[in-house]
Amino acid sequence: MSYRVMARRWRPQTFAEVVGQEHVTRTLQRAIARGRVAHAYIFTGPRGVGKTTTARLLAKTVNCHNPQTGSDGLPEPCNDCPACDDITSGNALDVIEIDGASNNRVDDVRQLRETVKYTPTSLQKKIYIIDEVHMLSVSAFNALLKTLEEPPDHAMFIFATTEIHKVPATVLSRCQRFDFKRISTREIRKQIERIVAGDKLQVDEEAQVAIALKADGALRDALSVLDQLVAYQGDEPITGEVVRQALGLIGTEIYFRTTDVAATGEIGEALKLAEAIAGGGHDPREYLRGLQQHVLRILFLKAGAGASELDVAEEDRKRYDESKDRLADEDLLRIGEWAAEAEDLLRDALDPQVRLELLLVRIARMDRAVDLGALLESMGVQPGQYQQPLPKSSAETASDRKPAAEKKAAKASPVDVKSSESSSAEEQKPPEDDGDDGDEGPPPEPPPKTPSGPTSSPEPDEEEDAEENNGEAGTGDSSSAENGQLTLVDVREGWLGLCDEVSRERRTLGVALEAGAPTMMENGAVEVTFEPDFRFDHDQVMRNRDLVTKAFRRYFGVSKRVVIRNGPVAEALRPPRRKTHTEQRRERFEELLKDRPVWREMIERLELKMNGK
Ligand SMILES: [Zn+2]
Repeated sequence: MSYRVMARRWRPQTFAEVVGQEHVTRTLQRAIARGRVAHAYIFTGPRGVGKTTTARLLAKTVNCHNPQTGSDGLPEPCNDCPACDDITSGNALDVIEIDGASNNRVDDVRQLRETVKYTPTSLQKKIYIIDEVHMLSVSAFNALLKTLEEPPDHAMFIFATTEIHKVPATVLSRCQRFDFKRISTREIRKQIERIVAGDKLQVDEEAQVAIALKADGALRDALSVLDQLVAYQGDEPITGEVVRQALGLIGTEIYFRTTDVAATGEIGEALKLAEAIAGGGHDPREYLRGLQQHVLRILFLKAGAGASELDVAEEDRKRYDESKDRLADEDLLRIGEWAAEAEDLLRDALDPQVRLELLLVRIARMDRAVDLGALLESMGVQPGQYQQPLPKSSAETASDRKPAAEKKAAKASPVDVKSSESSSAEEQKPPEDDGDDGDEGPPPEPPPKTPSGPTSSPEPDEEEDAEENNGEAGTGDSSSAENGQLTLVDVREGWLGLCDEVSRERRTLGVALEAGAPTMMENGAVEVTFEPDFRFDHDQVMRNRDLVTKAFRRYFGVSKRVVIRNGPVAEALRPPRRKTHTEQRRERFEELLKDRPVWREMIERLELKMNGK
């Protein structure tokens, strides 16, 4: 088999065969079909994604003696007529390919201007394909501009560039621009698969994935690597190991071992790992980049993406899925950050091996964060009841520094611990109205001004003994600045938790309560409003007001009279919607990534996508 011509043999001969650039090829084909081909095009995009290939196809199709109609009704070259043959073989005199990098002088362009005047010798159109056009000198550009201003009818220019910003605006404005995309790893893999099947090569899945990932969006690179490997291996099968050896890639095994070290904390294993990386002749920086990608993949799975979304070999996919719960998000992020840091430091480190060892020991010795979310779930607390399982900030805690005795007040759920109110304040003044007081209730109380906002963070030193806490002083929680009172904001935040609390006693009642919205807090009462659509829920809650009142006291640690109303609810006061578990994880993931632009970029590179998106 003539492996040397593989990449050329698989070069697309029709628009339909161009991989991953349908947005360009279709537009071009439509223009050809309508006879509206422009005089000058500029193709921009990363290297190796098909710009020159598409330029040649365009040249072929406009010159083809016998254009065909592709399966989608769009024109394609016949690849059979003399014009097609000459262009495919590179023998067409009227298709002039110029490399901007080596023909950047003004003289070259002047020569071009001379020849462009003459009509084509055998083809309909004389086509100039200038690759890396941004390399032209300023004077060369100026000379080119003259030609572009009044191009002869028989001439057509196709420029290609990887650096569009270096092309003068005067030139750009005379060209139709097409942006070529980086080709996704998935598409590159598909193409590799096609070639492997077509040429009956022995290349296993792991090897194909490794080649596709290494190509980083450039199909041409993938094909040339494949070409080389076939040349090295002859008839021997190409395995993942062969590819890794040839390209100096690090196997996923090393990365899984790294996260294992983080989970088990074994220093000895950490050092062995550092040795394995160095001993394998791997570039420590390559390892560190790979490690960041590895933790990102795990974070993605944890954030609710399916393992099938990962572009890794089947075997690894399973492994990722199995290992995703071994470490908390925070730990994974820390590992990733340390790896990024170390990557920076390695740039001028004298002894990269020592750096690597230090990093791995650090990973082994880190204090693992408790995945509070998972912990709570294992305790049977539903996701809706907790918010951010992040440690409470010192600013928030400062105001709660009170003797434990004073904190007994708040019982409630383990997490949504709210400030409690002294019960002396509770019965001060019962509200006047009860139930159906018509449709226009008093305007909702504005949210109180609080120094640090309401908090729903857990308080680890909370004692859980006080059921009734009459006579206890308020806790002085930061969210209840005034008189240590539970605010409407607090109640809204804890609302779903309260509904859960009610559900535990009577399921249907809890569900009914969810349709209501806490709309006002006044003295000793909390007003719950149901919109007219929820009349049924309203009635049910109304009938069981005592039960709700008791649950309220248990949950918020404060006695309030529960006033049920029926009427419209302002948009801002609508009942809090219950978030799905996935939504929560996703939000949290977004939050974690907020200050990490580099990681965002990496996510795009890895083509990590959340479910269904
Ligand atoms: Zn043809």
